[in-house]
Amino acid sequence: MNSNQDRQKAETTGLVWFRRDLRLRDNPAWGAATSQHVRVVALFVLDPKLFRAGTPRSDHLLHQLSSLDQSLAERGGRLLVRQGDPARLIASEAADSNSATVYWNRDVSPSSQRRDAAVEAALPLPVQTWYGSLVHPPGRLTTQTGDAYRVFTPFYHRWLQTDWDHWPEPRLVDIAADPGEGIPEPETAARYEPGESAALRRLDDFANRVGGYPEARDRPDWDLTSRLSIDLKYGTVSPRTVISALPSESSDAFVRQLAWRDFYAQILHAFPHTLDRSMRSEYDKIQWRDDPDGFEAWRKGETGYPIVDAGMRQLAAEGWMHNRVRMIAASFLVKDLLIDWRLGEEYFRHLLLDGDVAQNVGNWQWIAGTGADAAPYFRVFNPVTQSRKFDPDGYYIRRWVPELENLDASDIHSPWTASPLDLVAAGVSLNDNYPGPIVDHSLARQRTLDAYGRARGEAS
Ligand code: FAD
Repeated sequence: MNSNQDRQKAETTGLVWFRRDLRLRDNPAWGAATSQHVRVVALFVLDPKLFRAGTPRSDHLLHQLSSLDQSLAERGGRLLVRQGDPARLIASEAADSNSATVYWNRDVSPSSQRRDAAVEAALPLPVQTWYGSLVHPPGRLTTQTGDAYRVFTPFYHRWLQTDWDHWPEPRLVDIAADPGEGIPEPETAARYEPGESAALRRLDDFANRVGGYPEARDRPDWDLTSRLSIDLKYGTVSPRTVISALPSESSDAFVRQLAWRDFYAQILHAFPHTLDRSMRSEYDKIQWRDDPDGFEAWRKGETGYPIVDAGMRQLAAEGWMHNRVRMIAASFLVKDLLIDWRLGEEYFRHLLLDGDVAQNVGNWQWIAGTGADAAPYFRVFNPVTQSRKFDPDGYYIRRWVPELENLDASDIHSPWTASPLDLVAAGVSLNDNYPGPIVDHSLARQRTLDAYGRARGEAS
């Protein structure tokens, strides 16, 4: 572009379509639009096909949108909210505002890729897009043969060694002040303080204790992980801002987790079929059990395995669960109950405030042993051993399963092994005020190994 064209473009309006990047700092789409135009329209489209009011996640989105609207209002503008089909609405808003270019940050999920394609097809204008929720865009890091990585460690080395793409810095511009249809009223109060400033405060707080992360990260009873997943999911902070804010000499273990996040995003981008099929096709032959009662007990936190029940109750109450307990609870569904990982994935995705297709599917397939660089299928978490190791005094269990709070640390992980006297003294009556275990772990483990073995074509 010559300088005359540059000047003409700068005098026009740019439209930014916000999706899951609800921040103004370190946001490449916002940075590009504000550095290339004198006037910017900030648009959010509530798509009724995706948006179901009244669920915790939908309500949290509305709270996040209100915070973004407030940040825009502090800069003299508003978030323009429209409800309907994005392809139609973005084209019409771009035409109405006389926008020269439309900007947005992409997401890797197959449905969002399809939506982007429909929006682009309906737009008679140029678009500029980024992946503002990832450190490196999917497809940027490839193996020597040009393929997507399927194994984490080599991906991680390349991820660390590769320079970040340049993201344009935002500038102060005239922001359109029409709120459109406005943000619907959420039905529930925010469970988690929304917005960019709250995210940055959480980051600041965590930066002071990241050095303790390697020791603390597996301890649900300590609850000292960053809790940034919800901010990363809604994009109130970018992963690049997170990394830049941490002392580099003590943040390796933590930054590695952000690389897993990029890893799972590039897996879903390169292998979209893994959304609901195994990465390794032989595992699509596993004969899962149809066990509605078992699934219901798992969902309600009534399996009789205290650490599993504690996690499932935390999920229902907070819309969040500690990572170690996510692993134990997910493994219990898949490997103890032999219930299809897809059912668990769907349940988690709807309840987790950080519920993200790429991360959730990637982690569920890891646990099921069916995904990229997954745990070997024969690795079956023992929920009692895990519980003793990672919640040794039972504080986490006591918090979420108050029926068991008076059991001592030696009994709380497996109440069915406590003596009748100790149970009575603690006020626990098995199968009455707390369930007995719904499966025997060692029998269930063998059943699962047999089912996986059959799927792999091995004689049982
Ligand atoms: P921290 O330990 O502080 O980690 C920092 C960040 O690193 C996290 O916010 C997250 O962005 C990333 N991270 C950490 N662990 C993982 C991981 N195993 N995989 C990918 N990224 C990771 N995370 C989601 O964001 N959305 C999901 O839907 C999701 N579903 C999961 C389902 C299962 C079955 C399991 C085992 C894990 C899932 N995770 C998911 C990953 C992980 O449990 C959460 O990211 C983490 O618990 C969030 O808490 P935190 O921010 O305090 O994590």
